[in-house]
Amino acid sequence: MSSRQFFVGANWKLNPCSRDEKKKLIDMLNNANFDKNTEVVVAPPTLYAIAVADLLRKDVKVAAQNCYIKASGAFTGETSPTQLTEAGIPYVILGHSERRTLFHETSSLVAQKTRAAIDAGLSVILCVGETLQERESGATDNVVKEQLGEVVKLVSSEEDWSKIVVAYEPVWAIGTGKVATSAQAQETQKATRAYLASALSPKIAESTRIIYGGSVNDKNCRELATQPDVDGFLVGGASLTPGFVNIVNANA
Ligand code: PEP
Repeated sequence: MSSRQFFVGANWKLNPCSRDEKKKLIDMLNNANFDKNTEVVVAPPTLYAIAVADLLRKDVKVAAQNCYIKASGAFTGETSPTQLTEAGIPYVILGHSERRTLFHETSSLVAQKTRAAIDAGLSVILCVGETLQERESGATDNVVKEQLGEVVKLVSSEEDWSKIVVAYEPVWAIGTGKVATSAQAQETQKATRAYLASALSPKIAESTRIIYGGSVNDKNCRELATQPDVDGFLVGGASLTPGFVNIVNANA
């Protein structure tokens, strides 16, 4: 049994759109019985982050879904990592495939954001993962290595890596209902840990949480959670449903 604390993140993406929906989600989380051994982090849209943090039970942490590389200045529309820290938001999701694809974020930019976020005192949920075409051509491990490799160039100390949770999220599994098999998740996450061991150190590899994301739901989460290199989940669609509670408790 690993000593890594199980981690479950909720990525609300650009939801909810009404105060009523937001209240329902917060009530669902506040009334849930969560396994005390699991770290739970919720990422609402940035506009709601402070309000959600105020209303949410204190054993559930809040994340932003993105931030910029600069603390302040002429960067219209961006959110500063320093401002997130000042607002009491402890986590940020970086490198989500929707940001890489729809907003053209490169691995190099994601790495700079990771450096800036850690420097500002944030913890990072760092997303990596391959497209279907890349998986079918056998490139999965190389894609993940390339994405992480840019981060490794800028972030290499044990202390910095204690602030990072790696989320392996195959692009073909995100929001599609096509979950990776537990064998696929385990194989890639084991290879990812081996990469961290060779690029950084065995100690960092052993202590870094590597979670799985992509169509996780309350039916498939238990089987995935049995895998030795699956240290939790990042959950999109199902985090907006009552089934999220069972996902948090998948390791209990
Ligand atoms: C995500 O957005 O990070 C995600 C994993 O989405 P879904 O669970 O809906 O596939």
